[in-house]
Amino acid sequence: MLAGDAPQGMEGDSGPTSTDGKFMNLAIAEALKSTPVESAYCVGAILVSPSGAIISSGFSRELPGNTHAEQCALLKLHDRKVAVGATMYSTMEPCSVRLSGNAPCAQSIVDAGIARVVVGVMEPPDLVVCDGVRILREGGVKVDRLTGFEERCLAPNEHILKHS
Ligand SMILES: [Zn+2]
Repeated sequence: MLAGDAPQGMEGDSGPTSTDGKFMNLAIAEALKSTPVESAYCVGAILVSPSGAIISSGFSRELPGNTHAEQCALLKLHDRKVAVGATMYSTMEPCSVRLSGNAPCAQSIVDAGIARVVVGVMEPPDLVVCDGVRILREGGVKVDRLTGFEERCLAPNEHILKHS
């Protein structure tokens, strides 16, 4: 199947909005800016205000220090208060474990007051077992997986994924 051929839909806490696909495409474009490394995924993130404006973006390792996409999107905000009530689009489930000692992105998203997270794919089990969605939901964040984008969200990570 060609990328983009799969029907788009939604699995999760809320119904899809007309702009979810547009923002996920922008998150995928961010992911493609990441430099691949063996030990971490290439992920992209877009942060959108309640009124539908893009307020930040990020991709894996954009900022120094082995940073993650969602972390970069939050760090690049001039005022963290604008993240309250916002929606984070991420090509992959936000992480729940950081071996580096940094705060996991799922917890940072909860702490920032983000209202909703839309993911393209769940984190594959190749590196660590990810519990990000559960942490988000327990923190009161709505989580939706936008279906139909899986292939394009995984494409920048072919170097990590095991194929059996
Ligand atoms: Zn992360």
